[in-house]
Amino acid sequence: MYRALLVQAGAFLNGGKPIAPEQIEMIYWFSDFPNDPARFPYQADQFKRDWDALTRFAEEIKSASSYPKTEDVNRCLYCPYRSYCNRGVRAGDALDAELETEAEELFDINFEQIGEIEF
Ligand code: SF4
Repeated sequence: MYRALLVQAGAFLNGGKPIAPEQIEMIYWFSDFPNDPARFPYQADQFKRDWDALTRFAEEIKSASSYPKTEDVNRCLYCPYRSYCNRGVRAGDALDAELETEAEELFDINFEQIGEIEF
């Protein structure tokens, strides 16, 4: 999405001169692995694929006649929009959700796999 948006908005950001997909490369750099960045170059066919998908999503959202709330209220616990849905008094913190997920993964214990201990 970032690369596609840069192609679309490139002229605005580049003094009126468009930015071609082939001029764009997204680079993720991790401080723990400074010599091993992840590079994502871009091509015209990727841009077409991405922009078609983004346009389709935007049309789908625009043409929807209703936006039902999820029935799984657990999803709302950390949702930044929950105050708009009357499922909380202030925005949820997505970071809390990430931390909880990490904690769950860290302590992913299958109690069925643990043998009983006699005492
Ligand atoms: S609070 Fe967030 S997750 Fe819950 S229904 Fe509203 S938008 Fe969806």
